[in-house]
Amino acid sequence: MIYDVVVVGGGPSGATAAEHLAKAGRRVALIDRAGRIKPCGGAVPPRLIRDFAVPDDQIVARITTARMISPTGRQVDIPIENGYVGMVDRGPFDEFLRARAAAAGAERHTGTFLRIERDEAAHVVYRDKDSGAERRLTTRLVIGADGARSNVAKAEVPGGDAIPYVIAYHEVIAAPEGGAYDPDRCDVVYDGRVSPDFYGWVFPHGHQASVGMGTQVPGIDLKAATADLRESAGLAGCETIRREGAPIPLKPLDRWDNGRDVVLAGDAAGVVAPSSGEGIYYAMVGGQVAAEAAEATLASGRIADLRLARKRFMKEHKTVFRVLGAMQDAYYRSDERRERFVSLCRDVDVQRLTFEAYMNKELVRARPMAHLKIMAKNIAHLTRLIPATA
Ligand SMILES: Cc1cc2nc3c(=O)[nH]c(=O)nc-3n(C[C@H](O)[C@H](O)[C@H](O)COP(=O)(O)OP(=O)(O)OC[C@H]3O[C@@H](n4cnc5c(N)ncnc54)[C@H](O)[C@@H]3O)c2cc1C
Repeated sequence: MIYDVVVVGGGPSGATAAEHLAKAGRRVALIDRAGRIKPCGGAVPPRLIRDFAVPDDQIVARITTARMISPTGRQVDIPIENGYVGMVDRGPFDEFLRARAAAAGAERHTGTFLRIERDEAAHVVYRDKDSGAERRLTTRLVIGADGARSNVAKAEVPGGDAIPYVIAYHEVIAAPEGGAYDPDRCDVVYDGRVSPDFYGWVFPHGHQASVGMGTQVPGIDLKAATADLRESAGLAGCETIRREGAPIPLKPLDRWDNGRDVVLAGDAAGVVAPSSGEGIYYAMVGGQVAAEAAEATLASGRIADLRLARKRFMKEHKTVFRVLGAMQDAYYRSDERRERFVSLCRDVDVQRLTFEAYMNKELVRARPMAHLKIMAKNIAHLTRLIPATA
């Protein structure tokens, strides 16, 4: 039997791609190695919940305030208007997505991807989890959705072995009751002691919480930084349930396909938003556009149609990625800049603009005066015309 598409990796990108293709009537296999929960803060925007029909019971917390904390401890609370930031637990969330793909008709295989062999067709070889035996799935196309440090990307796509990344580490803790902790508020900590080039976070998840940080700087003691963060957030005494870390890719690859039979999606393609490290929404969109590109290629027989994946994604999200990248370059480089960034967040127009971009993935263009004001403040901070705490 020949599959139309074999999807490698059953995280948000792979499961979304498999579901999309199965719904389109394609013969699709989904290989996932199962057994490890993806380390992740689990924050998702309303746009994701809406576009990908995530049911209520997957949302374990609804965040209505984001607190920005500066290096000197100043706090700016941003109310989240017209909705909430959702929190998902990646164990059940990813399994829900895989089961939904299977219900749509995707065939699930549990095991570890090893390689692609080729003669007149492509054969995806994986090690079956139960038997330990190597299995081969013959296919017309492959979607590589096996996460950061993707083996499919490394073997198949130029640059796939050299995607720059931030290492992110978090501890899943039992949430405290009361005290300074608020189960409806997420804290984002901009402080060089927690991270010299990214940020730290406290994300409530119902009975649990994710506390962590990320950095690109080698040699930083991630556990010590997280211990400091827990101490300052009053969470040092909470039970630790899991400690885990993983890379967050920093730059989308210039090409997502191999010009032959493979297209990448999600972290495997390097697609995570700069500044925030948000990747779940973009992984799901990546899975969708990879599936659309595969579908177009199967229908037309033109391999060049695999390029549609990157093209469609960039058309929609390039500007937001550019703005977020510029913000990270400008403000994440020193405590003085971080202090200024938190000052900027006090501006109601900045709050509306950034949260609209996060919540609905759109840059609001409706208020030109507000944009001009934000730009002027931005320049005033970056040129030190005004004090860091202004
Ligand atoms: C600590 C941390 C915190 C984060 N917090 C957030 C957050 O709050 N919000 C947010 O939006 N993003 C967050 N991210 C980023 C987000 O987790 C990723 O961008 C997202 O999971 C990417 O989805 P994906 O499907 O592309 O890859 P993954 O979620 O990594 O899924 C890849 C899948 O492939 C499987 N796989 C890998 N290798 C193989 C193989 N050889 N054979 C078979 N299967 C394989 C894995 O088992 C996994 O199921 C965070 C990341 C980290 C590390």
